[in-house]
Amino acid sequence: MPIYEYVCSRCGAKFEKLTPLAEAHKTQPCEACGERAGERILSATSLGGSHSHGGSCGAGGSGFG
Ligand SMILES: [Zn+2]
Repeated sequence: MPIYEYVCSRCGAKFEKLTPLAEAHKTQPCEACGERAGERILSATSLGGSHSHGGSCGAGGSGFG
């Protein structure tokens, strides 16, 4: 089960919640005010698993010839 980050559209509090994929698109009850106004934040974290290094491409070398 992935962890999603939510922000409350009512009080602005942010919280993380273990949410099944089927429930991920639904609003979640806010942990601060209790209002069911937590909207999912699309973050780059979680899902995928491996994190890329990025930057310049270090591959290559003997390409000539
Ligand atoms: Zn709230």
